[in-house]
Amino acid sequence: MGLCRFCDKPAGFLKKEHRECREKYNFGTFTIRSMIASSLFGKVDKDEIFQIARESYIGEEELKSLILNGLDEAIDKALEDNILTEEEEEKLKVIFLEFGFNTDELSSSKTYEKLIKSLVLRDVLEGKIPNRVKIEGVLPFNFLKSETPIWIFNDVKYYQLKTYRHYVGGSDGVSIRVMKGVYYRVGGFRGYPIEETKLTKVDEGILCITDKHIYFGGRVKSFRISYDKIVSFTPYSDGIGIQRDSANAEPEYFITNDGWFTYNLVVNLANRV
Ligand SMILES: [Zn+2]
Repeated sequence: MGLCRFCDKPAGFLKKEHRECREKYNFGTFTIRSMIASSLFGKVDKDEIFQIARESYIGEEELKSLILNGLDEAIDKALEDNILTEEEEEKLKVIFLEFGFNTDELSSSKTYEKLIKSLVLRDVLEGKIPNRVKIEGVLPFNFLKSETPIWIFNDVKYYQLKTYRHYVGGSDGVSIRVMKGVYYRVGGFRGYPIEETKLTKVDEGILCITDKHIYFGGRVKSFRISYDKIVSFTPYSDGIGIQRDSANAEPEYFITNDGWFTYNLVVNLANRV
């Protein structure tokens, strides 16, 4: 006879769990997640949460992942209306601390990253230059002495909107040998140009945002753009589009997989310059 996956007691013929245990577990996970998700509106009672976890057969690892899910929801809710306040930041940090997340768990957590990103944006909005990330390794960029790297996105795809001209009609497929003194009949030029724009992936690499420039370092292309050379920014769910201040510049796109952060960061830094 199998044992109940929750309480470890005999579960009955061909059964893997007791219905009551499953119900307790479902109720416990729901309650804890909701308590954490609304933690910015009240106080979280750590002991109560530990007690619910114990009574609902929720293990330590699972409790941590429930807490992260709840925090993620709390941060999203807070960011809907505005950037995180210092009071909200404090509450979130206390939760990370109280539930014993270590440095490794934090640095690999998307939720913690979202918290840090929110704080970086708050700094920029308050006119401060954020100093919240530690850059590991050597960046392939030649920064100015007076500039500060603020964020680095890895594995960024760089796209350009390219216009291709090609001709339809006319003497398709015929090669014309240029000879001196030969007159080409007008009919040979009957084709008309078609302009077609295509989003073309140019490269993939690192995007570094500083207080003065956007740097891109890829396998084939590396460049920096000063904020005052950008005329417009376009937000996308997964990145940002820019248009440089030049008559024949094609729109360029950086896909960072976080349009919210990239757009807010870059536009607000550009506004300061
Ligand atoms: Zn059971």
